[in-house]
Amino acid sequence: MRRIAVIASLVMVVLVVGIVGARIVDSRQVSRHQFLMGTMIEAKAYGYKANRALDQVYARLAEIEQKMTVNQPGSEIDAVNAAAGRSPVQVSPDTYQVVSKAIAYAALTGGKFDPTIQPIVSLWRIGFPDARVPRPEEITTALPLVGYRGVQLDETRSTVYLTKPGMGIDLGAIAKGYSADEAVAILKQNGVKSGLISLGGNIYVLGNRPDGKPWRIGVQDPVSKRDSFLGIVEIADATLVTSGAYERYLDVDGQRYHHIIDPSTGYPAESDLISATIVTTSSIDADALSTSLFVLGRAQGLALANQLPGIEAILVDKGNFVYVTDGLKDQFTLINQDYQLAK
Ligand code: FAD
Ligand code: MG
Repeated sequence: MRRIAVIASLVMVVLVVGIVGARIVDSRQVSRHQFLMGTMIEAKAYGYKANRALDQVYARLAEIEQKMTVNQPGSEIDAVNAAAGRSPVQVSPDTYQVVSKAIAYAALTGGKFDPTIQPIVSLWRIGFPDARVPRPEEITTALPLVGYRGVQLDETRSTVYLTKPGMGIDLGAIAKGYSADEAVAILKQNGVKSGLISLGGNIYVLGNRPDGKPWRIGVQDPVSKRDSFLGIVEIADATLVTSGAYERYLDVDGQRYHHIIDPSTGYPAESDLISATIVTTSSIDADALSTSLFVLGRAQGLALANQLPGIEAILVDKGNFVYVTDGLKDQFTLINQDYQLAK
């Protein structure tokens, strides 16, 4: 009898410790950072499988980088570019999906967003140690190679064909968004209910913060240096992606050249905007659209955002006016006196 009582109380102790332990682990934050895709990638997750989830997230991000980079040899995109004008190249479902989404955005923006910008990007090399201002004739020679209509996709064979020799794809404006979506899917598969992933300017928040309140995400001040904000957006289960002229640039003879190119000129996009932020639920769309709106400028950019369901935007123009789409106004707070909310 006594033995049964002792065993029963031991079982009780194990159960109680188990439940309390699970609670403690559940609210514990696991956070990591790692340099991938030319940027610091930070991830936070809460939950007892958070550690395992983050192992899987970083492995997946490394896999996506390996498939889509043009900055290290051997990617699927390198193979597509090397075969330009010669033959279609079969790619993985990941790469096919990102290329076809990029082409769809090129069509939607009339080519202001264009993943075939690679021949121009590789002349400028903005953000890399060997960045330089190309000679005008180099731009004139490379520009006819840019054009999304020269990309042939075959969904059944999962092939990408660049129809002109010298053409090239660069997924720098969209692949981090895809990566954020994939990372969040992995967190969810692992039962994580609250978490955050940040790939440079690409942020995705899963659920609310562990205290049940929405996440407060800063929108970068596009003029002053990094880590100061122009405003705060309160979001849950959403992505926030910003494109700006302040991220990567080259200063030569008092002139600043940034990394977002206008495909119609081959030079850094000169719209009336200094920053474009998209808030929505799909990060691949947000990434493509933040770059698109930056190139399109305020009027066309706002018109496009308003036309697309579920897409919200925060645009900052050269006069330091901040334009916020109606669906986001209640969640956005301007905190920086250098800027003014546009009426
Ligand atoms: P976004 O506005 O999202 O994109 C701008 C980038 O898109 C430009 O840098 C250019 O690559 C391209 N682009 C420019 N104009 C257009 C246009 N009109 N339409 C479409 N695309 C355009 N950086 C490193 O320094 N080293 C690395 O090894 C490295 N590897 C990377 C690997 C991968 C898979 C990815 C996705 C990025 C990598 N990067 C690397 C960063 C990359 O070079 C870009 O600078 C970065 O993705 C820009 O992101 P963004 O959010 O600042 O700007
Ligand atoms: Mg982008």
